[in-house]
Amino acid sequence: MVKQATKALLIKPGELMLKGDNRKYFEKILKDNIKSVLKNICTYDFSEESGRYYIVIQESSFTEYEIASMLCKVFGIVGVSITYRIDADEKGLYDFIALLSRQVYDKTPFTTFRVTTKRADKTFPTQSTEVSKRAGGSILSTIPDLQVDLFTPQIIFNIEIRKKNIYIYHEELKANGGIPVGSSGKALLMLSGGIDSPIAGYMMAKRGLLLEAVYFHSEPYTSEKAKEKVIDLAKIIKPYTLINKLHIVHFTKPQLEIYEKCPHDELTIIMRRVMMHIANEIAIKNNCQGIVTGESLGQVASQTIESLTVTDEAAQFLVLRPLIGMDKNEIIDLARKIDTFETSILPYEDCCTIFVAKHPKTKPILSRIKESEKALDIDKLVRYCIENLEVIQI
Ligand code: ATP
Ligand code: MG
Repeated sequence: MVKQATKALLIKPGELMLKGDNRKYFEKILKDNIKSVLKNICTYDFSEESGRYYIVIQESSFTEYEIASMLCKVFGIVGVSITYRIDADEKGLYDFIALLSRQVYDKTPFTTFRVTTKRADKTFPTQSTEVSKRAGGSILSTIPDLQVDLFTPQIIFNIEIRKKNIYIYHEELKANGGIPVGSSGKALLMLSGGIDSPIAGYMMAKRGLLLEAVYFHSEPYTSEKAKEKVIDLAKIIKPYTLINKLHIVHFTKPQLEIYEKCPHDELTIIMRRVMMHIANEIAIKNNCQGIVTGESLGQVASQTIESLTVTDEAAQFLVLRPLIGMDKNEIIDLARKIDTFETSILPYEDCCTIFVAKHPKTKPILSRIKESEKALDIDKLVRYCIENLEVIQI
């Protein structure tokens, strides 16, 4: 069977993005993103027909299934199937599907099935319902115990008839949809080692934003392990976000200065504003059009509507907070799904959790905070941090 059939991955882009005037633009970015994933893991042949992409793997140390799973992480794709490609020959099709059904049955016995045919090439002489019937007959003659069930079959054999080839498959790996990363511009993700910010990055990448990340590190108060954890998190979200740069801000000097010179119940809010000032500069230098954070309303003192308003005043960009209305449990579910959770809960300090007041202000007033900030030379602190930036390629 393997001799007459070539395995090919069939990629289905999301339907929505294929409509409208921007179709070509989205498609080009999606194809580039797919190719950037594939280039590190295999050599391959890429083709497309009617808005679907077909990939024949030539050489790789990964299996087709593993490669399909990796492609499922690329936003803009709704599903990936491992198909068998044969010549567009009707008799060959029925012979092949009989062999395939036998192989599937021997591996995991099933009792009901259906055949679904899509005849994209209308010059193919037999209509799709008739092809399905004949293919079903061929399967039944090989395994007579089976039953056809049109509505709730255990297995669906899909047949796609194209000009030169016919593709047959019975499994589809579900992907995450979304729109291709890069099609909505670029933003700077404030990535801490916590549960929330990697998920915020995931969610904005799903809406097409390409990300760079910034992490504020306060050695020796935050350890090397805390930094490594953030680098690990960036690596885990890379297949989804295509993130390739992590800016590390050495933040000890501003933090100590804030601690020395500002009222302690305002430490958190002033620190977050200084972080924003630094993020602004990094965003400008790297052509980002927005800043992404993992804040969600009401989680902690710094995430009240008053605190977020005062933090935003320091931002020169739109601050995107995709988790704003989510419960912690919902965020954790996503963190488990994309595999960041176990890393996020490793117990290393974040700079936001050192130097915190017992009773931080939950309803800061902008004018009062600005008054307190007069004790600092924020421009100088920002310059210092930008000059001492460390950049890590992910
Ligand atoms: P997370 O789980 O993402 O750490 P959190 O619930 O701990 O969030 P905060 O500590 O108030 O909440 O941080 C809110 C957001 O500020 C984070 O989601 C992240 O976007 C940003 N942030 C906090 N600490 C840092 C840091 N050390 N470096 C970069 N960004 C940070
Ligand atoms: Mg945190």
